[in-house]
Amino acid sequence: MKEQIKVLLSEEEVNARVKELGKKITEEYAGESVHIVCILKGAVFFACELAKRIEVPVSLDFMSVSSYQGTTSTGEVQIIKDLEHSIEGKNVIVVEDIVDTGRTLHYLLSNLSSRNPKSLKLCTLLDKPDRRVVDVNVNYTGFDIPDEFVVGFGLDYDQKYRNLPYIGVVEFVEK
Ligand code: 5GP
Repeated sequence: MKEQIKVLLSEEEVNARVKELGKKITEEYAGESVHIVCILKGAVFFACELAKRIEVPVSLDFMSVSSYQGTTSTGEVQIIKDLEHSIEGKNVIVVEDIVDTGRTLHYLLSNLSSRNPKSLKLCTLLDKPDRRVVDVNVNYTGFDIPDEFVVGFGLDYDQKYRNLPYIGVVEFVEK
């Protein structure tokens, strides 16, 4: 079987939406600063593009948690790399690539809220609401998408396709 990618959201659509999200965050945090917690590796591309569109002071930190093996969720969440800096007293925005079952974010948000940030919000590029198993409060969403396995703009399939500048669906076709 050969993999091919069908475009779901074009580069132009994604970039336009990221710009809108940046504007919204800029307005909502006027006079404050924002501390982005980027979830490695998938959210890196989105977090960088978003940060460039936010016009209040932005600081950045990274966290890595376990997620998918191949295309199926294991349902287990583990911190692989923790934050370098304390988030106490900061306006934290967790930036994630996609919310699927919600397990990862449910765990992460409760973990981070116990570290006493001034505020804690979640911004995801993509959301698959139909797949939700655990309730998660998403404050900023790029796009709601159907239940399909997507790649691009940071999202991978077995570490491939993260560098695609658009969001696509992996299709398997006969060679
Ligand atoms: P959740 O805990 O919400 O089920 O899963 C969140 C994580 O699963 C995401 O951060 C991402 O790593 C992975 N994930 C969920 N859906 C997809 C998808 O369609 N494509 C890719 N590449 N990863 C996904």
